[in-house]
This record gives sequence, C-alpha cells and structure tokens, in this order.
Amino acid sequence: MNRFTYARAADTFDAVRQGSDAGVKYLGGGTNLVDLMRETIEKPASLVDVTGLSREIEELPGGGLLIGAGVRNTALAEHRLVRQRYSLLTRAVVSGASAQIRNMATVGGNVLQRTRCAYFYDDAGSRCNKRSPGSGCDAIDGFNRNHAILGASTSCVAVHPSDMCVALAALDAMVHLRGDGGERRIALADLHCLPGDRPDIETMLEPGELITGIELPPASAISRSTYRKVRDRSSYAFALVSVAAVLEVEEGHVRNVRIALGGVAHKPWRAMRAEAVLRGGPAASLAFATAADAELAEARPLSGNAFKIKLARRTMVAVLEELAGEIA
Ligand code: SF4
Repeated sequence: MNRFTYARAADTFDAVRQGSDAGVKYLGGGTNLVDLMRETIEKPASLVDVTGLSREIEELPGGGLLIGAGVRNTALAEHRLVRQRYSLLTRAVVSGASAQIRNMATVGGNVLQRTRCAYFYDDAGSRCNKRSPGSGCDAIDGFNRNHAILGASTSCVAVHPSDMCVALAALDAMVHLRGDGGERRIALADLHCLPGDRPDIETMLEPGELITGIELPPASAISRSTYRKVRDRSSYAFALVSVAAVLEVEEGHVRNVRIALGGVAHKPWRAMRAEAVLRGGPAASLAFATAADAELAEARPLSGNAFKIKLARRTMVAVLEELAGEIA
C-alpha cells in the first residue's frame, strides 16, 4: 500500500474544500476502496473521511425519503420507512455482500464501488483499460462469464457490481451532490457511464464532488415492487443477472412500470425499451416476454456469457409475473 495522509471532514463544506485537491479520495466504509489500495489499484495521496457526515434518513414532505450518503447499508435496509415503502431496496441491500460488510459500507460508497472484474484487480499480470488506459482488455478474450451483455465497448466489458444501485434506478432515485460550484442533483440512472473508449471514467461526478444523499420520490400506493438476484451461490456473490421492478396495474393494464437490470452492463441498466413496450398494454405473460425481448434485442454476448441473455429474459418475465400476480 502506498503512503497517504488521512483527515476527518468536520462537515460537508470542509470535505469538499479538502476534496478539491488533486489525489484526494473520500473515504466511506472503505469496504471497496481499502481493498483497491491494498492491491495498489487505487493510490490516493490523501483520504478525507466522510463517515461522520450525512448519517440520517429523513422523511420529505409528500412522502419521499432523503437518505444520507453516510448511512450504513444495514441501517438503510432496516429502516422502518424503507421497509414499508421501498421494500425492493431492502431486498437489494440485504442480497449484497456479508452482514459484516453491510455494517461497514455506506450508501455513498456503495454507489461509487468499482467493478469486480478479476483482470482489473490483477495489476501484476493483466491488461486492463480501466486500470491503465490504452493497455488493452484481457477480459474480452478471457474468462468473461460474469461480464456485460449490454452497452459494452471494445475497450471494456465490465459490469457494475452494486445491487442497491439497481433498486435505486428502478425507484427513480436522485443523487444529491455538493462540489466547488455548490449543490446539484442527478438521476441515479444517469450517474454512471457506459465504458465507450474511456472505461476509466465511471461517473458523471466532477473532480472533488461529494455525494451527500439519495432522494427517493414518494412511492405510489398501488404499485408493487421487488428485487430478484440470480447468482452462482446463495450468499456473498455478485449478480449474474438481477432485476428490480416497480409495477402499477389498473384494470388489467400496465399504468406505469420501471425496470432496472444488474449484472449485465457497466452501469445499473434501466430497461427503457421494455418499459415503453409495457406501458398501457396488458399485464400478461406474453406482453412481459415481448418487452424482455425488446430490451435484450441489443444484447451482445461474449464467448462465455451468452447464457445471460436467456437468464435476463426469464428473470424479467418471472419478476413481472410475480408482481402482476400480487396485484390481480
Ligand atoms: Fe479492465 Fe474492463 Fe477489460 Fe475488466 S473488462 S479487464 S475492467 S477493461
């Protein structure tokens, strides 16, 4: 591990002031960043500890929630209003990592965690455009069973590892940011980038910008939602495919639907094509399958992950059938 300095931020203004220096990283629970530092993938000159900031979950006028970026994953999953109104978020969070890691990890850190592509972590022997831009990508012709089928590029085929972010994308969450220029908000679904020819650029954050919170809009009283994660073993594994969905049905027809996929792309993948197919149509199995096919028509499998296309299709259909069944 490289040498670095450490300081605790007194408040968000102090954090942003310190974070504007080159080489500074914000430290949340450290469950990903510290691993990356041990492997010398990340080499920050300074860490600014923000774990003492933004630790509340606040109910907003109208029924939404503002979740502080410093809230631990366990506290988020267990919060009464999250369980009552956004149960898919609880399901997503508890499906990720181990209880010990969830106790440490923060909401802000979860959003900014980096891919678990094994070649990205193999600093000694593998080519990786994300770690060393321009060096190549050993995953494309390598062991790529866990990699992307949607939105990938010839530079990078990695997937985003977060479960929580998939649920947040389906919930239309907004990310609150503070930087040198003040505060701004960005949709969670727009925060992460596709790899293109710059896979080292992973988010729309400006240098030194700090995530201060996540805003959830009010939940519809008639919607049903869930999160389903398919993985190789039942705990402590990343998603092969996951689906978060929110469905509103009225008189047998889809009034509104939001779907996000995990484990398939460089970012939480909002299934806009599927949503467009479903909206206004019958809440029925055939329509769900047609919508899944529309979403996955652009899927491009690698040598080791063609199975993900069928898996994503089946999981989307199964989740929508489950939600429609609850409503019927
Ligand atoms: Fe690196 Fe992306 Fe290729 Fe993995 S898929 S080796 S992260 S460039």
